[in-house]
Amino acid sequence: MAKKNSSDNPVPIKDILNKLTIEDLDIKGKRVFIRADFNVPLDDNLRITDDRRIRSTLPTINYAIDEGARVILASHLGRPKGKVDPRFSLAPVAKRLQRLLDKEVIFCQDCIGHQADNLVAKMKEGDVLLIENLRFHPGEEKNDEEFARALAKLADYYVNDAFGTAHRAHASIVGIPKFLPSAAGFLLKKEIEYLKGVVINPVRPFVAILGGAKVSGKIGVLENLVDKVDKVIIGGGMAYTFIKAMGYEVGDSLVETEMLDLAERIRARLIKNNVKFYLPVDCVIAQSIEAGSETKIVTTQEIPKGWRALDIGPASVKLFSEVIQDAKTIIWNGPMGVFEVDAFSRGTFAVAHAVSDAYALTIVGGGDTDLAVHRAGVSDSISFISTGGGASLQLLEGKELPGIAALTDKKET
Ligand code: AMP
Repeated sequence: MAKKNSSDNPVPIKDILNKLTIEDLDIKGKRVFIRADFNVPLDDNLRITDDRRIRSTLPTINYAIDEGARVILASHLGRPKGKVDPRFSLAPVAKRLQRLLDKEVIFCQDCIGHQADNLVAKMKEGDVLLIENLRFHPGEEKNDEEFARALAKLADYYVNDAFGTAHRAHASIVGIPKFLPSAAGFLLKKEIEYLKGVVINPVRPFVAILGGAKVSGKIGVLENLVDKVDKVIIGGGMAYTFIKAMGYEVGDSLVETEMLDLAERIRARLIKNNVKFYLPVDCVIAQSIEAGSETKIVTTQEIPKGWRALDIGPASVKLFSEVIQDAKTIIWNGPMGVFEVDAFSRGTFAVAHAVSDAYALTIVGGGDTDLAVHRAGVSDSISFISTGGGASLQLLEGKELPGIAALTDKKET
């Protein structure tokens, strides 16, 4: 198939990020402000239930420590809405970091002000300080210039490693870089290399698997990928808007009426571009989403009134697996069904296994899909799992992330 920019070169492409990275900075002895994404889930006793977000930034933190920087770490946690709320304190993160780094992590109870200034002034080379939740101040989400200036005052350099927040124009993401030389951390760089690199220079066949609840959530990705991929697989709730748009009845399945025309137009564009387009051919249906409700497997053309499709069926799994098996590059975002409920989880887990078995570069994005590959026990055999849901979608939509745009261009030095 004569496809645009076909290549046998391995992805990701290096140097796709035309911004300074932490390795470009001379950070020895310098105060380095690292914006991380420590927005981890906590249980009712404020214990961290999943520390992957903390672990994913360790290469950047360890590098800064080893280089002899004074390391100032900052993050948001949850949505405290500009007020101090102990439920969203980063204190548990400080403790976990201490264990992961195997060294003392000084914790400052405010991210700006006297205490922060004093603690930073006392830091020695290689010391690590974590400042309290940035969103305890309303200036963070409002991108207030004074707040950004107060944060910038703490440091000589700014490093962004918070990919999960890079699509937000907040003070600690786009505000601080106005005042300091600013670079990407290793995680940020890796996310860009995979998510952007793969779309520019995929090894073919390049397959996109999209699922999840709604077409509207993935429409930007579809529009961007229409002339880049070789094959598109659509599962999850969004499939039924496409099937309905083709003129079939889909019972009570999820349909976005206002998206029907667009769904048809996209399908036409995919066909025009010679992109193979796969929709579920069968599905698991139920009258209610509740666990324990009666289920049936029917073809997607025979969904009765009062029933809704909540997972792809075995024939779709077989069809999708054939396509996946043949791929050399796979991007997957969105579950194939309501995988949170056992009865509707098989399709998603089967696709997770197919993706992990494929002899391909495999990229998974989105919180639900990330959870699904972990639950399926195949996360170790996925090439790259993005740490950012919204940010990864925005990149796949071909959009620039404010947090990346704000960093210092490479040629400026
Ligand atoms: P999204 O955030 O758009 O990726 O959607 C993820 C959600 O889509 C998950 O919580 C799934 O339960 C839901 N989902 C997947 N398939 C279906 C379906 N067939 N009907 C309704 N919801 C679905």
